[in-house]
Amino acid sequence: MKLILPGFIILLIGGFFVWKTVIHKTDISGAPPYLVDDNPPDDWQLDRYAYLRDWKRPEGPAKVALQVGHWKNDEVPEELERLRGNTGSFGGGKAEWEVAYAIARQTASILEEKGVGVELLPATVPLGYWADVFVSIHADGNTNSAVSGFKAAAPRRDMAGNANKLLSLVEEAYQTATNLPKDPNVSRNMRGYYAFAWWRYDHAVHPMTASIILETGFLTNPADRAIIVARPDLAAKGIAEGVIAYLSSANIF
Ligand SMILES: [Zn+2]
Repeated sequence: MKLILPGFIILLIGGFFVWKTVIHKTDISGAPPYLVDDNPPDDWQLDRYAYLRDWKRPEGPAKVALQVGHWKNDEVPEELERLRGNTGSFGGGKAEWEVAYAIARQTASILEEKGVGVELLPATVPLGYWADVFVSIHADGNTNSAVSGFKAAAPRRDMAGNANKLLSLVEEAYQTATNLPKDPNVSRNMRGYYAFAWWRYDHAVHPMTASIILETGFLTNPADRAIIVARPDLAAKGIAEGVIAYLSSANIF
């Protein structure tokens, strides 16, 4: 009888560590960075970025960058070192980057057919990279397989002032094409996503790039997988149509 209480305490402590290492770890498979203060500087408008007031879009056809989330994660530079182990979510026998890659490839072919220049980017964004549109493509994960839906976010600092327009047009087109529910749980991490946190990283898009991150659905949910894994063409159609709508609205296309 005397062993019951200590035994119970050991079980509790053990359970906590299992939760910490296994469950909690897979729970944060959304957008990096995690638990880092990514606040932009307060003086961002005043001096450091004053040169952007005279910024003009480079001549040329519409240019769209599609980032494949977690692709070539092991090649990120020093400043993003902590992302190296972040391989993203996993489900249905697929790693997140594979699912994002298939969707990005198909989105690219739709856009290219329409005459839009497209570049597929890995986890590392080239220094000061500019495009008319930057969409980072991801797939979510959760320990609860019932959790479903897509979500997208624009940067906390939107220097060009057009990311929210891109966001709403892609959200609308993506929902129409995939019929997936919209997950309202957009996190602070998503809005400070490293690839468009130009106020913090060198390997981030140029501040005048209209940028969003899109979690296309949950790889851990069967209904979501039926779209993002089995029908990447539908996901691609949604993204491409949203991007085209944005480019048209901005008179770039
Ligand atoms: Zn991801």
